[in-house]
Amino acid sequence: MNNQNVLNELRSILPSAELKINEPLNAHTYTRMGGCADVLVFPNTLEDARAAVEYAYQSNYPLTILGKGSNVIIQDGGIRGIVLNLSSLKAIQKEEEKVIAQAGARIIDASEFARDSKLSGLEFACGIPGSVGGAVYMNAGAYGGEIADCLESVLAVTKEGKLVKLTADELDLSYRHSNVEENGLLVLEATFKLKVGEYEDIKAIMDDLTEKRETKQPLEYPSCGSVFKRPPGLFAGKLIQDSQLQGTRIGGAEVSKKHAGFIVNIDNATATDYLDVIHHVQQTVKEKFDVDLEREVRVIGEPPEKP
Ligand code: FAD
Repeated sequence: MNNQNVLNELRSILPSAELKINEPLNAHTYTRMGGCADVLVFPNTLEDARAAVEYAYQSNYPLTILGKGSNVIIQDGGIRGIVLNLSSLKAIQKEEEKVIAQAGARIIDASEFARDSKLSGLEFACGIPGSVGGAVYMNAGAYGGEIADCLESVLAVTKEGKLVKLTADELDLSYRHSNVEENGLLVLEATFKLKVGEYEDIKAIMDDLTEKRETKQPLEYPSCGSVFKRPPGLFAGKLIQDSQLQGTRIGGAEVSKKHAGFIVNIDNATATDYLDVIHHVQQTVKEKFDVDLEREVRVIGEPPEKP
């Protein structure tokens, strides 16, 4: 793929989109890590997002969707092909008891919008730093709530570039999983079915959850949140803590001293540093407790070239 040619072609198909080539992705991720995207596209309309998917499909170029980058580790060799980022598509609106949010909006903003509209059901999401699209993809959840509890439907684009409306049931949502990727979908918009509530009650729940988060999580550093899924009947953080791994550091990545389930980027960590810490934690926990820790965070892109 010739990056400059692709840029020129995309410029004629998507005149209003922001386009970049060889763009470092550490500037576009919550983790502050990741190599360069060959071509990075920021569509300004839903139609441009659809057309970008269609173009990638017809041209046979690999396509990667990047949300806020709060649950992915982009490897240091970067991402080949086209990377689509929907962060300009962030409108949120209310329709009766529903909140309809474009996929690039922060799920935190959707949660606050629902509170301000006196609608209850998205309180759990008030501290999750991802996008609406990423939250649907991951079936994100916290403190007893998850996207599956309140998602009614999504507007999405198939890998061929066709618009489809899907119900939440059709997304097969389960613990930190949906079928968005296996079905090659780009989520464009999500409709949340909520319940009328009192502003003060909704706010009180959100304030309480925010305080819990701020006390327990190392929010002062970039990270991708809880790195590992909960093993059945156990807590990943507890196993890591009991393995005396807190404070273990490789390069700029460290097992958080505040929350053992987090690995924080304390000093310009590379993705390689981060992955090395993950590997070390998995090995140590396996040796000590015979438990396999499964990554929740996704790893995408190419490893760095060998010198
Ligand atoms: P990204 O990390 O950018 O991408 C994740 C996956 O979603 C990728 O495979 C990407 O291709 C796909 N994707 C993104 N957008 C779309 C789209 N529009 N269409 C199709 N696919 C898409 N998670 C929780 O569940 N609960 C928590 O309490 C929580 N707390 C966190 C706290 C911190 C401090 C951090 C850093 C992370 C936390 N997370 C939590 C993890 C993360 O925020 C969520 O998983 C979030 O939903 C990821 O959204 P994102 O936009 O950052 O997705």
